[in-house]
Amino acid sequence: MKLSPSSFFPITTSTFKPTRIATPSSFHRLMASQSTSSFGGPPTVNKTAHDFDKQAFDGLMIKRFFFAPAFEIYGGVAGLYDYGPPGSSLQANVLAEWRKHFIIEEDMLELDTTIMTLSDVLITSGHVAKFADWMCKDVKTAEIFRADHLVEGVLEARLKGDKEARGIAAAPVVEMTDAEKKKNKNKKKVASTAVKLEDEMVKEIEFVLAQIDNYNGKELGELIRRFKIVNPDTQNEVTEPEEFNLMFGSSIGPTGQVKGYLRPETAQGHFVNFARLLDFNNGRVPFASAQIGRSFRNEISPRQGLLRVREFTMAEIEHFVDPEDKNHVRFNEVKDVKLMLLPKDVQQEGRTELKEMTVGDAVAQGIIDNQTLGYFIARIHLFLTAIGIDPTRLRFRQHMANEMAHYAADCWDAEIQSSYGWIECVGCADRSAYDLTVHANKTKQRLAVQQTLAEPIVVTKLTPAWDKKVVGVALKREAGVVTKFVDELSEEELKDLKEKLEGPNASASVTVNGTVYELLPTYLTIALKTTKNSIREFTPNVIEPSFGIGRILYSLLEHSFWAREADAARGVLSLPASIAPFKCLIVPISNNADLMKISHEISLRMRKAGVACRVDDSSASIGKRYSRNDELGTPFGATVDFATVKNGTITLRERDTTQQRIGPIDEVIKVISDLKNGTINWEQACEILPVYSGEQEV
Ligand code: AMP
Repeated sequence: MKLSPSSFFPITTSTFKPTRIATPSSFHRLMASQSTSSFGGPPTVNKTAHDFDKQAFDGLMIKRFFFAPAFEIYGGVAGLYDYGPPGSSLQANVLAEWRKHFIIEEDMLELDTTIMTLSDVLITSGHVAKFADWMCKDVKTAEIFRADHLVEGVLEARLKGDKEARGIAAAPVVEMTDAEKKKNKNKKKVASTAVKLEDEMVKEIEFVLAQIDNYNGKELGELIRRFKIVNPDTQNEVTEPEEFNLMFGSSIGPTGQVKGYLRPETAQGHFVNFARLLDFNNGRVPFASAQIGRSFRNEISPRQGLLRVREFTMAEIEHFVDPEDKNHVRFNEVKDVKLMLLPKDVQQEGRTELKEMTVGDAVAQGIIDNQTLGYFIARIHLFLTAIGIDPTRLRFRQHMANEMAHYAADCWDAEIQSSYGWIECVGCADRSAYDLTVHANKTKQRLAVQQTLAEPIVVTKLTPAWDKKVVGVALKREAGVVTKFVDELSEEELKDLKEKLEGPNASASVTVNGTVYELLPTYLTIALKTTKNSIREFTPNVIEPSFGIGRILYSLLEHSFWAREADAARGVLSLPASIAPFKCLIVPISNNADLMKISHEISLRMRKAGVACRVDDSSASIGKRYSRNDELGTPFGATVDFATVKNGTITLRERDTTQQRIGPIDEVIKVISDLKNGTINWEQACEILPVYSGEQEV
């Protein structure tokens, strides 16, 4: 069965109209500035003439093979995708930018750790017990839903229906054909019906939706009952939400006795190598490790194209920092970066309006917990906008209390708006000392920093001194746990114990792991002891920016897509030159043998100069070939004609404006190379290459 694009991309029937502004890469900012420039100015490009057309966009993605369902000829599997030539190059270019922006600029330690992960590691990290989502089933058909997505989809549809009934959003109700209904079967999007709700109900639904990520399974069950939520397709009731662990389990080796999992994140690979990384960094913090690699999550019901898949590329950073000093030495460089923030207190009041502020102010006002977290949030913003994400559709949302892991100090998601709504594309969490502590406790390895102090610290405190022989005889195998427990008591607790041991009964009891032990003065004495410490040992805290590359790619592709003003069917992807899959299309004007020969020579010269290019020697008209090229997001086109053979010149077409310049072959190649490297901008290119008038001597 051949699957059509729309079976994989739910078609949004909503009135989604993205705020369109030119793609904000430096390249496009420069393009925009051309209209007033001194070189005559290119025609103004209107990228917002047509509303975003999701179906046309999805069609383009499949037709040009940016990506497609994996195992398509076998019918495909939800949540698994293959990237084709342009998608793979785009991903490689985005990752190259990521490495430059983070690993190189921030001097991070790069890692490449195994995907297959020992189950002990994931038991210790808490993933085996807790890496789960809430799932419910249609009681009759057993169709499976992710509980929060079901509640969200149904409530959003009710709000939309209410708006339609009130005449606020006059979305035309289009009757679907049978074929469309069939294609729509897999959609999570719930069709809305124009039904007016009570004002109170609207408020309540808005409140629930504003904190939909904040509910646990029991609460989701209560919401399902409270709002009488059923399977929107069958109207059947659904079961109570139950937990479903998202990890793919496996076993390592032929005996099947060593249990493993495909990793659900790359982070654990950093933590288990912490001691070596610290050593590599001469025993000092702060430092960061970084890793790009595949992760796997057995998502309950992946229905959002590349946004929710079961295998995806992540790029994760673990920045290890002294818990007592979370300032960042380069914070000043980013303090003026403006961010759109959605803090937790705003969401807890059921509101979603954004606060625009500089990262400097957000940290100073305690909205963002510390400088290091703020620094990374700003750097994430700069990275995303540099690769072409529209800054007006980028926000940072703070996690609410229930959403955040219990150990996390603060957490912000970079969310990008697309036709699927606001989607988390990068998580940025302060994970405190949790991971290193649990792995150190489990393995009994030191995963901590030892810092030599300039001034030794002199400490006088109550300290137990044990008579090991007596305790050993009295408590036998339990002696170790009990002494450790007492050694770790607070000053107050030790004082209390000391008083009891010196009191009239001369005994004291302690409860360790639910067992009561009787301590006698012969076991230990507690006295003030003065120690001089010239080493401070601490477990670093971890700030973790975690990027989902597929989500970023998809959002970027949507943000880059527009249609020519004169022809809505002519789609263009305005990808920045630095990350576009191909930089130049070489177009011979006919299949004349001389033109073909020189076209392939030029292509070789370009590729040797590091410019990814392709020759389009098909018989399609030049206009058609350029249109195809616009769909691939190729920023430049070089036309090869008889003047090329005679004079050694080629014309250079710029994708968005379609403006043409002319110059000698090597000069044009150099200009394209400089443009894609970002060492010159289009305005400077136009100063090097004159306008092509359309006439040449042949
Ligand atoms: P998390 O560890 O859940 O915070 O995820 C880190 C990042 O991975 C998210 O910000 C997403 O960009 C990405 N991600 C998580 N789950 C998926 C998925 N099922 N499909 C695609 N990307 C995902």
